[in-house]
Amino acid sequence: MPDAATMEKIVALCKRRGFVFASSEIYGGIGSTYDYGHYGVLLKTNVKNEWWRAMVRERDDIVALDSAILQHPKTWEASGHLAGFTDPMVDCRACGQRFRADHLGELQCPQKPSKHVGDGPSCDLTEARDFNLMFETTMGPVKDSGATVYLRPETAQGIFVNFKNVLQFSRKKPPFGIAQVGKSFRNEITPGNFVFRTREFEQMEMEFFVPPDEAPQWYDFWKAARRDWYAELGIREDHLRLRDHDPDELSHYSSATADVEYLFPIGWSELEGIANRGDFDLTQHAKFSGEKLEYFDPQTKDRYVPHVIEPAAGADRATLAFMVDAYDEEEVEGEQRTVLKLHPRLAPVKAAVLPLVRKDDQPAVAQEVYGALRGLMQSEYDEGGSIGRRYRRQDEIGTPYCVTIDHQTLEDRTVTVRDRDSLSQERIAIDALPGELAARLAAPWSSPKTA
Ligand code: ATP
Repeated sequence: MPDAATMEKIVALCKRRGFVFASSEIYGGIGSTYDYGHYGVLLKTNVKNEWWRAMVRERDDIVALDSAILQHPKTWEASGHLAGFTDPMVDCRACGQRFRADHLGELQCPQKPSKHVGDGPSCDLTEARDFNLMFETTMGPVKDSGATVYLRPETAQGIFVNFKNVLQFSRKKPPFGIAQVGKSFRNEITPGNFVFRTREFEQMEMEFFVPPDEAPQWYDFWKAARRDWYAELGIREDHLRLRDHDPDELSHYSSATADVEYLFPIGWSELEGIANRGDFDLTQHAKFSGEKLEYFDPQTKDRYVPHVIEPAAGADRATLAFMVDAYDEEEVEGEQRTVLKLHPRLAPVKAAVLPLVRKDDQPAVAQEVYGALRGLMQSEYDEGGSIGRRYRRQDEIGTPYCVTIDHQTLEDRTVTVRDRDSLSQERIAIDALPGELAARLAAPWSSPKTA
């Protein structure tokens, strides 16, 4: 059976249920930027929290950082972004549009008949030129005399320039890591595929500083750990793979890179890159800043520039992959339902509290149950419409547990808990409910989706 998820269906669901909107929509939108609505914010926040959990909360050797988006322009000279953060671009003289020269085979020509860029009868492409992807702006109130600064195209450099600060104040020694989540900006030539490639996006990056001779083993460790993170959060194994870069794909600073890839409806695509960056970054920043960026081991009297292993992920891409992997359409009791079978820990809302009818004491007891749950987990109260419609609303946003209050509740203070995936209904005492749901949320989970 083909997978129910298509990019069009995901985009439609995101709009219908307020996960993601096109940015500045009332003005006709602005090139490939998106705004996250309520459920989208909750989902993406859960993705980022799971990353923090795996990277910082469950480890003793990684600390957190939140560096500024605007950094000294020398940062980008040292990192090589000013000279080399470019993509090859071609212009089409016929339609006036720009395309990434290395993606021509995948890009659609905007003119009829529908062909790949360059293959249409009127396509007239220029030679490829390098286009720098960094957004420029001016710092200071006077435009002409202000300094040109750049919106960071990755969060990593904010980590390298803080290496010394963190080393001094965190009482860590290699191997140790610095983790950061935040916005990055790239003036992508051909953004697209919804939030997969946008010009403003969030990254989750960690730089792991190690003694040089330990770099290969830590590279292998982080490749496996990062792949497993997606699998543990429910991504189906047959839709997940690690792909080692060929030598000709490697960046100038990297001796080895692998991508965690997901089988999107558009084909296998990168979710995250894991790179062995050697001592390139610290050496460059030491050269440009004049600061010593090295580690002195007081025991062995060894002085060295640590090597760096970097897992660099995208929060928006990961969120999209979790949605695509979770999306399903099924027939339940003769009716069609759309459901997001998300890992319960990722689900935007964990529990929906639903009085069966809006009379007797049911809404009052439901409010009491809702009050007990909402402090513990993201919960929702809904008394509008038939119970079937309310279940389907929750299915569409991926709520794993619907708690229904009915006439029996008023007699014995039990509620039913409907499981989103198995559709089983179990009666549970109100007093035991918070503990029961917390236990279910903490349990291992794998996708019930088969396709
Ligand atoms: P790509 O080859 O897709 O352009 P990249 O190799 O340039 O990506 P990195 O520089 O390794 O990407 O960035 C790390 C991660 O940041 C990517 O794996 C991706 O998840 C995310 N990312 C990078 N560019 C974008 C973008 N334009 N929109 C959304 N996410 C992005």
